[in-house]
Amino acid sequence: MSYNIAVVGFGLTGRLAALELSLVHNVTVYEVGNAQALSSAGRVAAAMLAPLAESVLCEQDLALMGLDSINRWPKILAQLDDTVFFQQQGTLVVAHQQDKGDLQSFAQRLKPLANHQVKSVNRFEIEALEPEFAGRFNQGLYLPCEGQIDNQAFYSASFNTLQKRHVQFKFDKKVDIACKQLLKSYDYIIDCRGLGAKNTTCKLRGVRGEVVRLHAPEVSLTRPIRLMHPRYPIYIAPKPNHEYVIGATEIESQDSGPATVRSTLELLSAAYTVHSGFAEARILSIQTGLRPAFSDNRPQVNHEGKVIGINGLYRHGYLLAPSLVAEAVALIK
Ligand SMILES: Cc1cc2nc3c(=O)[nH]c(=O)nc-3n(C[C@H](O)[C@H](O)[C@H](O)COP(=O)(O)OP(=O)(O)OC[C@H]3O[C@@H](n4cnc5c(N)ncnc54)[C@H](O)[C@@H]3O)c2cc1C
Repeated sequence: MSYNIAVVGFGLTGRLAALELSLVHNVTVYEVGNAQALSSAGRVAAAMLAPLAESVLCEQDLALMGLDSINRWPKILAQLDDTVFFQQQGTLVVAHQQDKGDLQSFAQRLKPLANHQVKSVNRFEIEALEPEFAGRFNQGLYLPCEGQIDNQAFYSASFNTLQKRHVQFKFDKKVDIACKQLLKSYDYIIDCRGLGAKNTTCKLRGVRGEVVRLHAPEVSLTRPIRLMHPRYPIYIAPKPNHEYVIGATEIESQDSGPATVRSTLELLSAAYTVHSGFAEARILSIQTGLRPAFSDNRPQVNHEGKVIGINGLYRHGYLLAPSLVAEAVALIK
């Protein structure tokens, strides 16, 4: 049966929900911003798919859901008319000699995930994985199941495909989910407002994150790198054309204002200690986003009347959204 469905919020979960639902239903998308959804956390994100590395911070069931989601991404991207970079060649975790205790502590806190083993790697194995690290790091960990996607390419490709499917778009529209007119007009409303739902959703908060996007022709890293560091643990996510996302700070603040000097210095200094080629990189952008999170940092799919809400994806939006959106769509009978 085909329904009239409103998707409210055209960030990460809104795009995934619209893609899935528009295969069967008549979909209208509402977004407070424009097609680019500049205030969406998903636009700022590094878009790493890191169930093992993130298992240090989340419960095991979420890490397992992350593994399920990674398997869903290639199918999602295959339905798009434009190619979107997706990679699953693992994550390399490294530490400078003086910080090897941080690497050990990280290794101890990783949770076991079915058959997905963590591999300790020595300097030669690190060099085999990333030739430009030759002689730079003596110890590391390789997490083979992990991946990443190019979120900016996903944002534009998903919009193009949805337009071709004749999905209707209402931009510059701040929607009140409880609005009677909205409830009357649609069979279902998928609430994908992220932090925009803060005033109407109990215990939802924003967690500030800052990232720097660089163009670094002198750096050729092939997979996401995590640097274990006592004060500035960072990741470096390589995107196509020698672009790198360096991230991310995590600050308990709802301030979405521009990145601070302190955060920028920390991110860029740490990146430079990983690879000196970043010295000549060009700064493409320094962005801030607010990760929508509940007090337990676990995501929720809620169903009340006609409204199905997906929220609280915190730092695991790309990692978990495909499975959570599938769970939400399955509620439509
Ligand atoms: C710095 C940073 C780095 C990150 N890195 C990663 C990572 O590497 N891997 C990973 O898995 N996750 C990462 N994340 C997390 C991920 O981006 C979020 O979990 C995810 O974007 C949340 O998706 P969402 O759709 O709920 O919210 P959003 O992506 O924020 O989208 C919400 C949308 O709703 C719109 N909206 C809000 N209110 C209304 C309204 N009333 N009416 C209409 N529209 C409205 C907003 O404008 C926005 O476009 C990162 C986040 C940040 C900030």
